[in-house]
Amino acid sequence: MGGLWHSDGGAARHDAVAWGYAAQASRRGVEIHQRTEVEGFDVGGAKITRVRTNRGDISAGQVMIAVGGMNYDKAMKAGVELPIRCYPLQAMVTQPLKPWLHTLVSSVSLHTNLVQSSRGEIVIGGGSDPYQLYSTRSTLDMKEHLAEGAVHLIPFLHGVRLLRQWAGTTDMTADYSPIMGASPLSNLWLDCGWGTWGFKATPVADKYMAQTIANQKVAPILEPFTMERFATFDLLNEMGATAASH
Ligand SMILES: Cc1cc2nc3c(=O)[nH]c(=O)nc-3n(C[C@H](O)[C@H](O)[C@H](O)COP(=O)(O)OP(=O)(O)OC[C@H]3O[C@@H](n4cnc5c(N)ncnc54)[C@H](O)[C@@H]3O)c2cc1C
Repeated sequence: MGGLWHSDGGAARHDAVAWGYAAQASRRGVEIHQRTEVEGFDVGGAKITRVRTNRGDISAGQVMIAVGGMNYDKAMKAGVELPIRCYPLQAMVTQPLKPWLHTLVSSVSLHTNLVQSSRGEIVIGGGSDPYQLYSTRSTLDMKEHLAEGAVHLIPFLHGVRLLRQWAGTTDMTADYSPIMGASPLSNLWLDCGWGTWGFKATPVADKYMAQTIANQKVAPILEPFTMERFATFDLLNEMGATAASH
């Protein structure tokens, strides 16, 4: 028998965090264009000259690709092939229960993790689906697998009803670590490959990506995350950091 106890770990509402960042960025003068899809890039002289969107073109000074599950696809539009493959990751929530679970419980052998949301729902997650796909449909076999793991860990969840189940696309690298920093194009920066654990890393990753773009020089702390590491085999194995029971 054994286990890990991470006493200062925690859970946060991801949508509230994203809106918090957006509100502060907007207050500080950042223009946010919602419902504006990047469709492609004009490239000339080993740099991006223009970003093409469904609402018009933008002439490009510095460009960063950070579009989660669409990173591989979008980088290809600039002629950059990222060492990334995309897999679905599913989760589901139960009906609300009175508060009783005050930490996240994760079993690596059952590939199941549970946490109780501020609304009382039990959020149940596990590992990625074992095949590459861009679909965000959820599956019956993952529902059964997660329900089995959850009831095995906490037997009184037997009979609790599920409210919903969903999937997102995760951009995985071979060493489970992100690709941050420079690209083969001089003004194109990458913040990609976060896979299953990019939410918790957002504050520090964005701090150093902002520094990198402002100085047009990769921050020293980000240097190991270069995409060149997959050619030189200087891999950064972060499988344990996923906490998603892979
Ligand atoms: C079910 C599930 C559970 C997860 N659980 C955790 C967890 O517990 N902890 C954790 O740390 N991480 C978790 N993750 C992973 C985390 O969600 C991602 O790693 C993180 O969201 C990646 O952040 P990002 O900013 O790179 O991309 P995203 O958060 O995906 O943001 C990318 C944005 O780009 C936009 N976009 C896409 N294409 C275009 C385009 N062409 N033009 C303009 N905009 C575009 C999208 O609409 C989106 O708003 C989970 C993921 C899933 C699917």
